[in-house]
Amino acid sequence: MELLKKRIVEDGTVLPGNVLKVDNFLNHQVDTKLMDQIGEEFAELFKHETITKVVTVESSGIAPALMTALHLGVPLIFARKHKSLTLTDNLYTANVYSYTKQVSNDISVDKRFLQPDDHILIIDDFLANGQAVQGLLEIAKLAHVEVAGVGIVIEKSFQKGRSMIEKTGVRLESLARIASLDNQKVTFVE
Ligand code: 5GP
Repeated sequence: MELLKKRIVEDGTVLPGNVLKVDNFLNHQVDTKLMDQIGEEFAELFKHETITKVVTVESSGIAPALMTALHLGVPLIFARKHKSLTLTDNLYTANVYSYTKQVSNDISVDKRFLQPDDHILIIDDFLANGQAVQGLLEIAKLAHVEVAGVGIVIEKSFQKGRSMIEKTGVRLESLARIASLDNQKVTFVE
């Protein structure tokens, strides 16, 4: 998505540890117009799939996932993060290691919101090593729902996430694919 790539080049900054900071349009201040265009793009990409719900993880996945759900005309569910859960009877739960925060969290979705006839589209802001998506795939498995695809706003293609998702056979669409962040410079996949 050319508009998104342009914005990453203009406003993104590269932090140590291969982290791209995009907090003036995606992760802190949110550009609502751009989110709308991102939602429209995902809805177009996945228009031939059966999708009954969009699923993401709080908090930074919510903005693009909400706009995608709006364009698809379906509800949004965001998995909630907790330190560690003891009472989990009414929840589908998976453990996720956070790439940026370097801590493990449980993420969970209330069982009421995923039914076996659901077909979900997973949306997230970034794909690095794929832990967040893997956690959502685990939850989908526990809930016996179909995964129609995974949509990522910014994929860091030099990390393991893409190959992990490809191995599962689930369709993956990323709007911007970054080949390298070396020397504090963003290089996109051709
Ligand atoms: P993964 O689970 O794929 O290793 O990492 C994805 C999650 O980590 C995303 O949901 C995002 O919140 C965070 N993340 C990973 N890499 C980056 C990055 O370069 N920049 C930002 N802002 N977040 C990242």
